[in-house]
Amino acid sequence: MLFGSCYCHPSSPVSRRRLLCAGGAGFVSALIGTLVGNERTARAQALGSKVPEVDRVAVRIVTDNQVIQFIPSEKRDGLTIERRTGANLTPDAPPRTALHGEWGLSMHAESQRGNEVRNVLIDFGYTPETLINNMSILKIDPANFDALVLSHGHYDHFGGMVGFLSANKGKLKKNLPFFVGGEDSFCTRETAFGQYGALDRKAILDADLALMMAEGPAIVADHGFTTGKIAQVSSEKPLQPSKEKVGVVNGFGCFPDKMSPAKNTGAFIPDDFEHEIATNFLVKGKGLVVLASCSHRGIINAIKQTQAVSGIQKVHAVIGGLGHPLCSRNSIRLHNVRSGLAAPGQPTG
Ligand SMILES: [Zn+2]
Ligand SMILES: [Zn+2]
Repeated sequence: MLFGSCYCHPSSPVSRRRLLCAGGAGFVSALIGTLVGNERTARAQALGSKVPEVDRVAVRIVTDNQVIQFIPSEKRDGLTIERRTGANLTPDAPPRTALHGEWGLSMHAESQRGNEVRNVLIDFGYTPETLINNMSILKIDPANFDALVLSHGHYDHFGGMVGFLSANKGKLKKNLPFFVGGEDSFCTRETAFGQYGALDRKAILDADLALMMAEGPAIVADHGFTTGKIAQVSSEKPLQPSKEKVGVVNGFGCFPDKMSPAKNTGAFIPDDFEHEIATNFLVKGKGLVVLASCSHRGIINAIKQTQAVSGIQKVHAVIGGLGHPLCSRNSIRLHNVRSGLAAPGQPTG
């Protein structure tokens, strides 16, 4: 969360950031980082007419609201759902670890085409502690990541990012692409409960990530693709649970010259989530696998956008947040979509 003019989680393991936040040096450092970052931002590779296809994709839910033990794994047509029933990494020793549940979402997608494997992390959950703990138990190695994607600029999706980047400093691939749905992702946000933070651009660039702006549909790590802005074509309407403000303060926020004049009011305005993106894969012989987030723009809209940008109608699976009654007026009628699996995660109501 934003604490006063500085942006540090009090229990964050990121000691350097805490140091920067503690003194005036933080202001200068963050500001320089932002300016440098502005020049190093790149436009993501657009999704062309040929949609990448993969042989298989495995999606692991890393952070979610709940961890429910003792539900058996199951197989459905073309789908295997594995549920981890314990976290004992060494069966001949007492269990010392457990998967943690918390408000927030993070997913890991491992795709394969022939012998080629790609690993993508989508979102970072609310805290780095949960993210790192669960990644370790699920045996997900950040050194293998080929891309990071942030679905939208809400704290329960990026809150774990700074701590994750700090814990993996020097371990991630150099110039690892970090996809966001546009400058709007960086705007400062607030809810009815107060400040809701802003994405730390400096932390992204300090970690030698390549910041990829993906306002339109874009290729992710050769195998997947993002939707770009999700059009409102169904009856779903965002309830706008947060407000956003354009401007940069102490290095945090979105650049006014990169935002539409209508949003550049200098005040908090209702959040339209035009930067929210879904990440998707086309699995050979099966169809689309749609990885949604909060689905503020509506899960049906996210699916329809995926179909529109790919030209593929068949949906094999929908995984992620299907919208929350507090967040959106989603009337979820997934039976209208030819889907093999609907796996609701945070923040489905
Ligand atoms: Zn969320
Ligand atoms: Zn959200």
